[in-house]
Amino acid sequence: MGGELNLRSEQPPAPLPEWVYAYTASMKRRLEGRDITLLGYVKSMRSGKSNFRCSKGHQWRTTPWLVAEGEGCPECGIGKRTPEEIRKMINAGIICLLTHPDKPGFIKIGVETAMPEDVYREKPWGDWEIHRYRNVEETVLAETLIWELLGHPLPHDREPVRIGLDMAEEAFRRLHYVIQEKIAFEERRISSENRSHETSDAKRKNA
Ligand SMILES: [Zn+2]
Repeated sequence: MGGELNLRSEQPPAPLPEWVYAYTASMKRRLEGRDITLLGYVKSMRSGKSNFRCSKGHQWRTTPWLVAEGEGCPECGIGKRTPEEIRKMINAGIICLLTHPDKPGFIKIGVETAMPEDVYREKPWGDWEIHRYRNVEETVLAETLIWELLGHPLPHDREPVRIGLDMAEEAFRRLHYVIQEKIAFEERRISSENRSHETSDAKRKNA
């Protein structure tokens, strides 16, 4: 196990793709307060496997998505949550590009921490209609970034703004990548800080 990796361990680690940092950051947020630690990185949420350890020392390997959605330790059950509890924990929700039949040329942004079907049913924005929506983790970050992409950075009163619908659609298309970039940047910074701590610890021990 891991023999292939050991052969290459003399070389400096290759930089990981951006999404690996983004998945890893997402997983860590989903594990907060659950007494489960992610070991290493999440390279794929659904098709790969990652290693986890619970606070009682049980270690296992599984599809990250299952743990991300609330599965607990297979031996002692610690850290089990419902998908709903997880959504609340990570502040997940939807962000919507809204248009109004009587206000052509204007758009509004709507953010709700609810499931899309509930938002469609409850119509929290009255006559404003959902033109596009995205499921997002961290609705606050998503809202900040979409307003930046639209050229109207927060803070402001979130009133409807005049903008071409094609431009607003383009901003919505880019939103996913911008969020991922932002989260990956932050995670990479944290993990490189941790690495440099480990290195200096190792140096102290060897001194
Ligand atoms: Zn356990």
